[in-house]
Amino acid sequence: MIVCKFGGTSVGSVEAIRQLVSILQDPDHKGRVRVVVVSAFSKVTDTLIAIARKAEQGNGTFKDDVSQLFERHREVIYRLLPAETQGPTEGVVRSLIEDLERILEGVARLGELSNRTLDMVMSFGERLSASIIAPICTAAGMPADYLDARLVIRTDDRFGNARFIPEETYPAIRSLLQNRPHLQIATGFIGATLDGKTTTLGRGGSDLSAAIFGAAIGAEEIEIWTDVDGILTSDPRLVPTAFRMDSISYEEALELSHFGAKVLHPPTVLPAMEKGIPIRIRNTFNPSCPGTLIAREVPPSPYPVRGISSLREVALIRLEGTGMVGVAGFSARLFSALARRHINVILITQASSEYSICCAVLPKDAPEAAAAIKEEFESEIARSAIEPPVIERDLSIIAVVGSRMKSTPGIAGKVFHALGRNGVNVVAIAQGSSELNISAVISRQDEAKALNAIHDAFFLAGLRSVNLFLVGTGLIGGTLLDQLAQQQEILADRYKIRINLIGVANSKHMLFDAAGIEPARAREALLSQGEPMDLDGFISRMRAFNLPNSCFCDCTAADTVPSRYLDILKSSIPIVTPNKRANSGLLSYYTALTEYSRERGIPYLYETTVCAGLPVISTLHDLFLSGDRIRRIEAVVSGTLSYIFNNFDGSKPFSGLVWEAKQKGYTEPDPRDDLNAMDAARKVLILARECGMPLEFEAIRVEPILPPSCFTAPTVEAFFEELKNHDQSFEERRRRAAQQGKVLRYVAVIEEGKAELRLREEGEGSPFRSLVDADNMVVITTDRYSVLPMVIKGPGAGAQVTAAGVFADIVRIARTLV
Ligand code: ADP
Ligand code: ASP
Ligand code: MG
Repeated sequence: MIVCKFGGTSVGSVEAIRQLVSILQDPDHKGRVRVVVVSAFSKVTDTLIAIARKAEQGNGTFKDDVSQLFERHREVIYRLLPAETQGPTEGVVRSLIEDLERILEGVARLGELSNRTLDMVMSFGERLSASIIAPICTAAGMPADYLDARLVIRTDDRFGNARFIPEETYPAIRSLLQNRPHLQIATGFIGATLDGKTTTLGRGGSDLSAAIFGAAIGAEEIEIWTDVDGILTSDPRLVPTAFRMDSISYEEALELSHFGAKVLHPPTVLPAMEKGIPIRIRNTFNPSCPGTLIAREVPPSPYPVRGISSLREVALIRLEGTGMVGVAGFSARLFSALARRHINVILITQASSEYSICCAVLPKDAPEAAAAIKEEFESEIARSAIEPPVIERDLSIIAVVGSRMKSTPGIAGKVFHALGRNGVNVVAIAQGSSELNISAVISRQDEAKALNAIHDAFFLAGLRSVNLFLVGTGLIGGTLLDQLAQQQEILADRYKIRINLIGVANSKHMLFDAAGIEPARAREALLSQGEPMDLDGFISRMRAFNLPNSCFCDCTAADTVPSRYLDILKSSIPIVTPNKRANSGLLSYYTALTEYSRERGIPYLYETTVCAGLPVISTLHDLFLSGDRIRRIEAVVSGTLSYIFNNFDGSKPFSGLVWEAKQKGYTEPDPRDDLNAMDAARKVLILARECGMPLEFEAIRVEPILPPSCFTAPTVEAFFEELKNHDQSFEERRRRAAQQGKVLRYVAVIEEGKAELRLREEGEGSPFRSLVDADNMVVITTDRYSVLPMVIKGPGAGAQVTAAGVFADIVRIARTLV
């Protein structure tokens, strides 16, 4: 014999009820089901509460709402019942609705709605639903009776959240069923006190009704049919990657539901557990799925934890004072005071100093809990041995549950690492002594982020995902999008890294999609669907998403975005940037950014600000980490200047080479922007700072390449005309060098606290002689690389290599994830 329960959505529509009938008729169920417990049609309980409140406030429109409720049920009757039973069933429903109306009129007249009356009003939801589903089953060839559970489920009189009394209830169920051989369609959620007053078992309580029936008749199994495939590793509405568990122990199910997994009403497990009856959660809309089995002995979880749940709204009551230190029985008094008022304490933590104690309660209970504590400790508070209790609100609790936690070290570390690196502040922590759960109280706005961060850390089998927010879709940003599009699959398959593009913006538009934007389509989507770009808006939206493992990437060349980096890091969001502005601006800002990143462990990665994709910055960091000391850096850091001097062999005049570089796209539109060496100087400044030199931009000595007259030329054409006048002197300088077997190179030297850029003559043995094309070269001399320096060489500009470097930094962030 089995007991089945169908929840609100599983009876919420004509299609759902058809599905219910076909489940009961299938070979697995036919003849085996003794009791079917049904909830009210979906949303009906909420509607009844709203109607009752309207009536209480004297709002006469409640009558229209009752008529709508009647229509909704009538429609099901006419669509699912054969003609001959439509009339009688409609009669039953009509008389229930009339009873309901009478009660509501009473509420309206008195202007008062007690918990007891509200329970009575709510009971109509389940009574209507079972009254309709019983004849539907009969008509489908499964003779069935309507069973009003108030006849058998006996409870105390805590209206709204009544406790059932097993000693009274179980015999009553058994004796009633003896006289009722047919299938019973029972109302969920409701019961009655010993003197017959209607009660409810708490919201979501139909699950418990099913367990009560199951326990009373010693059922083989209790099946809870709902709208998800089973108990998932986390709430699927908050954690999109949550997945079904095959099985879970009673204790684990109890913990998960106690801490908010709505799929199961928390007290449901107990009656089943006592009698050792397995519960199976199944999906009405996907009956071929085996669901989740809840039982005493289940295979251990393949993961160190079983699931993660959360209670969205809790309040914390904090009690502090020297008066509790070393006082025996203090906590006992505290908890008895709360228990006397029936306040459910969700979590308790006590500092080991015993100087403070915290307990989490539902927000609605907080004022009463505080009052109970004040009363209990009145004299201690009066003599200031204890501070009056403080209530903190807007908090959530996250609970990580699993019986394997007992034997696996490091779980708590992983949980708090995931929270910490995502900037989730933990207000209180508790670990149950059974080691079945670790719970953390956090700010409510971080609930989803915390759940996802912990979920990914434990369940995504090494898959690490980064949620990317990209500003700038020009040459570098655009190329990055192309590379993301190309690499997506390989990254996921081979390296288990997923990069979700959540937000993207150019100077005009911005676009967000929590489900991810196709990188290949991002630019087009920005144009067609984007909203006007505003940087503050972009940043606040990025924060509001509050996603775990977010990453901000600035592919603009502007000053405006870098000015926001510190704010962004302070939101615990890592930054990747090829934009030199922040690191080559004021020293104080550079220091603030790099120190914040180091101290808080929030990555700030800018490899591509010097020599594009060449691994210069990361190599320097590695050298420092290994204890080496940089003695000197010499470098050619400008691709344009590299090209011009590498090709300056006397075959062409200097101005002709500059022209050629411009034609090949190696220069800015006005080549003077390269020849003034300002961009090179910024890179040198960054390198110097990376070596620990506290320099401002002005301290970089830059030997001018061009005479001042070239810069006063009003146009690019005029500049080239003027440059021709100096070809002679450039050629003389070259020839003088060549006569000594040397070549000209524009080289940066960083040494002994100073940094400069000079046009040097490089003789035999200089690594810079081997430079070709527009390559960069960085020559690093350290304590360890002292005889032969380390040389990093290759293309130091270009969209492809720069974007690839940015990409590598983003992947580096993914790799730091747990
Ligand atoms: P019913 O009306 O069938 O009783 P509920 O709405 O009470 O259904 O419970 C099912 C819902 O619980 C799911 O639709 C899902 O959104 C939510 N839920 C929360 N946590 C979990 C979880 N860990 N596993 C499955 N569902 C969950
Ligand atoms: N109908 C009730 C509620 O919505 C009970 C249930 O669905 O389990 O809370
Ligand atoms: Mg439910």
